[in-house]
Amino acid sequence: MPKKTKLQFKTDSDSNQVTNHSTDSNQVTNHSTDSRQVEPAKINSPGRSTEDDNEAPPPSTPKKQRMSFADSETREAHGYVIRLYDVTTSPSKVKYFNAVIDNGIQESNIVCYNPDLHEAFSSAKLKDCPIKISKFTVENDQYRNQTKFKLGSAGNAEFSDMNIPYNLVAKKLEWVNAFTDLINVENIALESIINVACHVTLVGEAFDEDTKFGRKKKMNVRIHDNTITESIRLVLWGNHAQKITASGSYRFKELRVKTYNGRYLTTTAYTEITQSNESYEVRLDDNYNSLNQETIVAFPAIGINKLETNYYCSICNHKVIKLGKYGMCNKCPMKALLGEKFFDVKVSFKNGSENVMVTFPHNIFIQLIEKVNADHNDLDDIEEKLLVTKDLSVKYKQMSRIATAIL
Ligand SMILES: [Zn+2]
Repeated sequence: MPKKTKLQFKTDSDSNQVTNHSTDSNQVTNHSTDSRQVEPAKINSPGRSTEDDNEAPPPSTPKKQRMSFADSETREAHGYVIRLYDVTTSPSKVKYFNAVIDNGIQESNIVCYNPDLHEAFSSAKLKDCPIKISKFTVENDQYRNQTKFKLGSAGNAEFSDMNIPYNLVAKKLEWVNAFTDLINVENIALESIINVACHVTLVGEAFDEDTKFGRKKKMNVRIHDNTITESIRLVLWGNHAQKITASGSYRFKELRVKTYNGRYLTTTAYTEITQSNESYEVRLDDNYNSLNQETIVAFPAIGINKLETNYYCSICNHKVIKLGKYGMCNKCPMKALLGEKFFDVKVSFKNGSENVMVTFPHNIFIQLIEKVNADHNDLDDIEEKLLVTKDLSVKYKQMSRIATAIL
């Protein structure tokens, strides 16, 4: 065990399990059980459970998982500022920023609702001086299964006079700022956060997907740099999907390493995307041409893999439960009139000797329903007409297998 000094805060919060980023060299494991620890939310969107990584939601003013700490007055923590993010305004107009500090033994994630403290963090970071935070509360982030220190209006941040040797964090800081060659992605621990400078070679279609953070835009692109000849998939979520409209050179700060049929990268809530002038010697892999191809498959379909209609909460964009003409959002929680209905459809076709499952975005599926003269409100009717129709074809892109047109 790493030796415990007063770097550890002195309260019972030591019993909170701290999950370090996988980039940590010092793994801190705390074996005490904590009944307040909450299992990370399970994802229930079918068939996609391994592709869920996503932006963290902006921190709500948390009612959930708040612990009662009479002793938050005496709580303090010290460490170097490893990561610092800009002040952000949440949808509910709350200003906050996030930071990560490290005392050489463990990282601590911080969310600060007092924007005035941002300056203390940024000058500590700039001067490579450890920071001391005090008067915070501890909160479990149930999505990431990690502990967060929450600084409210009473919280404080200032330079720390604690002697924490810089060399304990020097390697990590170097890593935080470095750009990773794509050839190394294969060997980096899953869930690591990396920076990448690369060429975006193929841009897919943005589409909506249900995630544990609600319904989100998702877009796949393929990236490569001069160290690899086979491109890697990068998944862009939410607003990040709008940042890339064409292939070109980009710099990505803070992408997460994931795996699903091989390594891929995904944006996080903190990803920054900028265009760059770097040029890459484009050596397209064998897959490139086939991925870029548009394919046309003809009805009749082999079968329907999924045909669902869903409604979404106008506040949080999570699926609502339909109760007659109302929708119940269990997240908000709130009962409201049902809004627009969205189709979620996957249909399989024969393409030569291969079977392909094509995803229909809502708007394309509406076109299909109209072409087969089915009743929008009658799933049985839609199902039947989809299975018997013979005169139509569907165009989709090989890369994403998302329908782009009905012909
Ligand atoms: Zn909601």
